[in-house]
Formats: sequence, C-alpha cells, structure tokens
Amino acid sequence: MTAHLFRAGRLVDGTGSRPVLDAAVLVESGRVVAAGRASEVSVLPGARDAQQWDCRGQTLIPGLIDGHVHVTQTRAGDPGWDVASQVPSQHAALGLASVQVALAAGVTTLRDAGAAGGVTLELRRLLDTGLVAGARLLACGPLLTTTGGHADYLGVTADTAHELRLAIRRLAHRRPDAVKIVATGGSSDPHSNRHRAQYTVDELAAAVAEAERFGLHVVAHCNATEGIRNAVAAGVRIIAHANFLAAESGHIDADPDVAADLVARGAYVDLNLPAAMVPLADYDGDLDDRPDLPVDRWELLTRLGLARRAFFTSDEHGPRVREFPGLLAAAAKLWSLPAEDVVWRAGGLAASALELGPDYGTLTPGSVADLVVLDGDLVTDLSSLERPHLVFQGGRLAADRGRLVLPAP
Ligand SMILES: [Zn+2]
Repeated sequence: MTAHLFRAGRLVDGTGSRPVLDAAVLVESGRVVAAGRASEVSVLPGARDAQQWDCRGQTLIPGLIDGHVHVTQTRAGDPGWDVASQVPSQHAALGLASVQVALAAGVTTLRDAGAAGGVTLELRRLLDTGLVAGARLLACGPLLTTTGGHADYLGVTADTAHELRLAIRRLAHRRPDAVKIVATGGSSDPHSNRHRAQYTVDELAAAVAEAERFGLHVVAHCNATEGIRNAVAAGVRIIAHANFLAAESGHIDADPDVAADLVARGAYVDLNLPAAMVPLADYDGDLDDRPDLPVDRWELLTRLGLARRAFFTSDEHGPRVREFPGLLAAAAKLWSLPAEDVVWRAGGLAASALELGPDYGTLTPGSVADLVVLDGDLVTDLSSLERPHLVFQGGRLAADRGRLVLPAP
C-alpha cells in the first residue's frame, strides 16, 4: 500500500491536544507512522518517497466518529417516512446510501443505535469486506424495548429480566457491536412517557451481565433521570441523551448524585446534538419555576461534572447522517468550544466510549489512517468542518470534494 506524507497548515489530532501549526502526518500501510511538526515528520525515513500531499492552508483531522445514528430509517416527516411499509431490502438500500454520504462528508465511522430487523448487522459485514464504499459501520442491530415502549419499531420487545437475557442471547449470535436498550420513554412516542423509566435496576443489571458475557457493552436511551439513575446503577456503559427529565412534565431533575455515580463508574454520555442544542425550556416545557437551573443543556452538564464524559453524536436518520460535521461546528460555536475539544468529542473520546480501542479516532502513531483534509483553518473557522476536501479511510483515498472514490475491484 502506498505511503503518504501530508503537509498541512494545521493538525487537530483528535486527542484533545492543542492544534499543531505547520504540521505533517506520515502514513504507511494504512496506519499513521508519525504526526506532528512538519520539521520533524518530513525528515523521517520513508517520508521522501511517500506520495506528497500539499495541504498548506488546510487542516488535518482524524475521520469523524458519529456514535449514534439510525442509517436504515428515515425520521418522521422526512421523505420516505413510513416504517411500517418498508421492508428489509429498503432498509438495506437506505443504510448503504447513508454510510456513503457520511463517508463523503468526512464521517469515517458510524455506530447504528437501533435498526428494524437488525439489517445493519448484515450491512456491516458487507462493508467489512471492502467490496463496497462506505463509512465503517458498528451496529447494535435491533434495539430492546418494552411492549408498547419507545421505538419498538426499531427492535424487539423484552419486558422482564428473563426476556432481556433471552433477547440478548438471540442477538449475540448475530455479533452486534453493543446492546442498545431503551431505558425510558422517548419524545417521538409520547405515549411511552419519556419522564419515566421503562426498566428497573435489576432488569437492566441482568441485561448488562448477559451482554458482558458476550463481550458486549450496553448503551441505554435515557431521557428521564429515573432511567439514568437505574442504568448507571446497573453498570450501563453509555447513557444516550441524558436529558435529566423529572417524573413530572415541565421539570428537570438534575440529580448530582446520579451524575457523580456516572463519573465514578466510568460511564459516558452520548450527547445527541440536535436535541442538546435546544434550550432546556423549549425542550421540556416551561421551566420558569426553576430559576436556579441553567437554560442551556451544556451548562447543565458542565455543572453536573459530566461535560468531560460527553461525546458528541447526531442521532440522525438515513442520509441526514451527513449533517454531523455541521452539527459539530454549530455546537462548538454555541458552547464556545475550541476546535481541539470538538474534534476530540467526535474522535478519541468517542472511540474510547464505543470501545473502538486506541487505533481509531486520533491521528497518532499506530492509529488507522482515517484522515480528513479540511479546506481552511479549523482553529479560527469552525465551519471548515463542513468543507472536507479529501477523505482517507485506512490510508486509502475514499472521497475527493464530496465525491466517493470507489475501491478497486
Ligand atoms: Zn437514537
């Protein structure tokens, strides 16, 4: 495989470190050999004979990781929204289209957090062969929820600890990358009551233990504080959404003990940006009776000590997964986050949370060469995230100005 030497005006490496100015990255056999100052990297053995990429005036970042998507679905109201009439072949086609537009946008890894029939598990295997282009896909397959519970159209129902164990055993032989459990109701299914838990601590603990037996972690959808409390106590690794809704509508229950428990257990917050960027009062009704609460979700998470555990995701559906870089830019502007922080939350931190290991999410020696060249200076212009010029995946050029470069047969 060809070696590549990238010279760039800026390197934001995904570890959260300060950007490197006048940087270079050397890639050989699909892996990063060195990344840092151009004066040090470009004199290394192999650098001179590598293919040279002059990216001065541009910014190098690791391929972005969106750890919460639904590639085989469209969202209510979007064109094609009619889950009931869709069949697995339609889900598969939509999923493939989605991983391709994501890759062209610089999102080189996606994790699907719930798909009807678990079509994503077969799609992932197809992508792993390298026969077709697309973002690397990790998949939970069908999610687990209660009878009549939130998002039952994306998974299978399990109502007791025993049924959760059974469902995970059935799922495990299809080799999911994690187990998704819907631990509270959700906003898109108002009848499910997003203010309350769907499972007890004991039920969730049984699921966590069963998943762990197969080497899988659990990610739990949690809008209500009651569900966050149960999930954290049960040993769930990733708390998705983390809205801290009180049992009573129109109230927030920002329980500091739950937040402290989450941090102490090393769990993570999967913060889906479209919902998180909405002011709390707009998201959950009138909060005028709680002037002590911040109006902003990020400020709330920061006060609770959870900001450092929060990786950023889109929770987008279908081809809208391509909007992730724009969401990152918008969140960074809204919350005044520097470039290195927002890239870390969709880079090294996301890879840690998803148990991808140290090979993904950063541009550091030994990591898989998923790399994006952005037009412009990301440090001073966050909207550069929306201008990917070149996308490399495992050291191979995968997209050029938004057009996929198809793998050789
Ligand atoms: Zn979701």
